[in-house]
Amino acid sequence: MMPDQATDHFDEGDLVGVLTTQPLDRVLDYLAPEGGCHLGAFVEVPLGPRLVPGVVWGPGKGDFDRAKIRAVNRVLDAAPMLAVMREFLTRVADYTLTPMPAMLRLATRAPGLGDPQSMRRVYRLGSATPKRMTDAREKVLAVLEEFGGLALTLSELAEAAGVGASVVKGLVAQGAVSEEDAPRDMPYPRLDPDTGGKHLTEDQTSGATILRAAVRGGSYGTTLLKGVTGSGKTEVYLEAVAEALAMGRQALVLLPEIALTGEFLTRVEARFGARPAEWHSGVTMTERRRCWRMVGQGAAQLVVGARSALFLPFRDLGLIVVDEEHDTSYKQEDGVLYNARDMAVLRASLTSAQVVLASATPCLETWANVEAGKYRQITLSDRFGAAVLPVMKAIDMRAEDLPGGRWVSPTLRRAVTARLERGEQALLFLNRRGYAPVTLCRACGAQIGCDHCDARMVEHRFLKRLMCHQCGDTKPMPVKCPACGAEDRLSPVGPGVERLAEETQSLFPDARVVVLSSDLYGSARALKAHIADIAAGGADIIIGTQLVAKGHNFPLLTLVGVIDADLGLQGSDLRAAERTFQLMRQVAGRAGRGEVPGEALLQTFQPEHPVIRAILSGDEEGFWRAEAAERRAAGVPPYGRMAGIILSSPNVQEVFDLGGAMARNDGPLRKIGAQVFGPAPAPIARVRGRHRVRLLVKADKGVPLQAALAQWVAQFKIPATLRLAIDIDPQSFL
Ligand code: ADP
Ligand code: ZN
Repeated sequence: MMPDQATDHFDEGDLVGVLTTQPLDRVLDYLAPEGGCHLGAFVEVPLGPRLVPGVVWGPGKGDFDRAKIRAVNRVLDAAPMLAVMREFLTRVADYTLTPMPAMLRLATRAPGLGDPQSMRRVYRLGSATPKRMTDAREKVLAVLEEFGGLALTLSELAEAAGVGASVVKGLVAQGAVSEEDAPRDMPYPRLDPDTGGKHLTEDQTSGATILRAAVRGGSYGTTLLKGVTGSGKTEVYLEAVAEALAMGRQALVLLPEIALTGEFLTRVEARFGARPAEWHSGVTMTERRRCWRMVGQGAAQLVVGARSALFLPFRDLGLIVVDEEHDTSYKQEDGVLYNARDMAVLRASLTSAQVVLASATPCLETWANVEAGKYRQITLSDRFGAAVLPVMKAIDMRAEDLPGGRWVSPTLRRAVTARLERGEQALLFLNRRGYAPVTLCRACGAQIGCDHCDARMVEHRFLKRLMCHQCGDTKPMPVKCPACGAEDRLSPVGPGVERLAEETQSLFPDARVVVLSSDLYGSARALKAHIADIAAGGADIIIGTQLVAKGHNFPLLTLVGVIDADLGLQGSDLRAAERTFQLMRQVAGRAGRGEVPGEALLQTFQPEHPVIRAILSGDEEGFWRAEAAERRAAGVPPYGRMAGIILSSPNVQEVFDLGGAMARNDGPLRKIGAQVFGPAPAPIARVRGRHRVRLLVKADKGVPLQAALAQWVAQFKIPATLRLAIDIDPQSFL
C-alpha cells in the first residue's frame, strides 16, 4: 500500500513519481506544479515533445539529474485516484504480468478526461407531437424514447437515428424535441432503494436476507447465487444492490452481453425508480465520459456494464454482481488478459465489498471454491411462478432417417409441427454462424481457406461473401475453384445457422423463421429491438447461435431443438465437457419460462457419452464431481495452475527459435517445480499472417508462478517483430 497518510499532498517543486499511459517500464520523476498536487492526482506531463496523461503515483525517486527534471504541466479536473485503486491496478498487473502503463490505460478509457467542465447543447424528448409525422421524424423520437430520457448531442442523435441534423432541428421547431444547454457531465438521477420491490417467494426471501446482511456487514465475502434460469436470481441480487444503495455505497452489476442490458435497465428502473449508469462499448463517448467522472465523484450509485467496468474509479464500492458468472466473455482475450470474475473478487477484497456470482451453471472454479468453503452458496431451487424446467430428451441420430445435407430429424420436425399448431415458439440451436463452415471443390477436393490464417473460410450467404472467423477478412464467393479452376463445382459442406434456416423454411413453408446471430445486426440496438420483437411473438421458429443462450426471456418458447449436441465435445480443450454441459443447460432453459412447460430435444450421435447423459439426467452434482476428479488427477485448473505463452511473428523461424530457447532454458520454472510443454504450433497456427507458437506451463497450486514466469521470460531478447503474450489461467487454447 502507498503511504497515503504521510504524503498525500506534494508542494510546488516537490519531486513526484508519475505513472503515464506510455509504454515505459518505469515511473518518471517530475516537479509538482504550482499549487502542488495530491497523491493519485490525474495530471498531464511533458514527455519528449508531447504532453501525456498520467497519475501521481508516489514521491519521486530522485535518482535523476534534478536540473533536467521537468514540471507537471497541469493537474486535470478529475477526482484523484484512490490508494485502493492504485493497489488494485498493481495487483492485477502482478497477477496478469501486465506492464503498469497498460493497466493505467485500462483504467482511463474515457475521452476528454482532462477537459474542463463545460456546457454543451443537448436534445431530449419534448412535450408536443409534431404536426406532420415522417419516417425520419419517427426514427428520431424512437431513439430518444429508447434512451429513456437521456440527453444526446445533435450529432449523436442524428447518427443514432440515421437521419440528418435538419430533421432534429425541425422537431425542435415544433416542440417535439427540446433543446437546452447542460453541463457536459450531468449527475445521474438518484436511485431509491425503497421503491418497486417485488413480493419475494420464501426461497428468494431467505437468499435476499443473507445477501443484505452480508452487504450490511461491510466486509469482503463472495456468494454463489445458484438457480436455474427463471428462478428469480436477478430479483434476489437486486435486493443486495438495494442494501448497498441504502448504505450509500456504490454497486456494480456486470453482464456478459451488451444485448442483455436493455432488459436489465428496464428492470432496474422499475425497481429503483431511475436508470443507472451504463458502461460498455454500445454507449456514446459522451455517456462514457459522464459515467467515468460520476463514478469517480461518487455521483453514480449503480453501474451496469461489461467487464471493463471493473476498472472504473469507484469511490466506495460495496457490491459487485457478476451475472452469468460462467460466461466465457468475462475473459478478456486481447490486450490485458484478465478474467473479470476473478478480478472482481480481488477488487472486492480490497474495498471490503461483497461479490455475488449468479449462474444456473457455475464454472468448475466457482464450484470448487464453494466446496473448499471459500465462497458461500445460496440456491434457488424452483422456477418463479408456474414455469417449470423443460423436459430433456436425446434424439438418437443413428436411428433417424435423414438424407445428406439435412439436419432437422423427423422426430424434431414432428415436435416443431406440434408447437406451430398450438401457436407456440420453437428454437433451433446451432452454435455456428454463417451458411456453411466449409466450402469444398467437388472436382479436386480443395477447401477454400483464408489467405492470412490457417482457417477455412465460412460462407455467409446473407452477406454474399466468404468470411474468416479468425481475422474477419472477407472475399466474394468465387465461381471457379481457386485450386483447380473447375467451374461451378464449389459446394457447401456442413450447416451454419443460415443454411439451417433455409432447410427449416422449406420444411415449414408457412412459419415465420428468423435467425438470431451476432453477425446479422449492425448495432447492439438493432439486435435488442429485434429480440424484443421476437419475444413478443414476432416469429414462430427462431434459429440461433449461443447468443440466444444468454438470459433473454422468450415467454412463448416451449421447444428447444439442439441440432448438434456433440459439437462442443470435439476438440482437446480442457473445458470442452464443462462448456457443453453449461451451454446445453442454458439453451434448454430458454424453453418454458411462461405458463406452458417446455421441452428440450438434443440431436446426438453419442447418446451414451457421459456428458450427454449428465445433461439429460440433470445430475449436476454427479457431473461436477466426476469432472473435478478428472481435473484433480491431471493437476489442471482449478487444482493446478496453468499459463499459456503465445509467440507470434510474421517470421516462422523466429517464433520456433525463441520457443525452443524458452523450453531449453526453463531454470526459473523448474525451481518452483513447474513444467514447460511445447513449443508447438498453436491450434490455429497462423492468424492475420502471423505464425503462432505456444508453450504451456503447468505448476502446482500455491507456487509463485508469476514471479517465476517473469524471471524466465526476462532471460530472452525478444526480436522487435515478435510478440509474446502471457495468458495466466488460459480459457481457450487458440
Ligand atoms: P433469473 O435471474 O434467475 O433468470 P429472474 O429474476 O429474471 O430469474 O426471474 C424470472 C422472471 O420471474 C422475471 O420475469 C421476474 O420478473 C419474475 N419474478 C421473479 N421473482 C419474482 C417475484 N418474487 N415476484 C414477481 N415476479 C418475479
Ligand atoms: Zn483469416
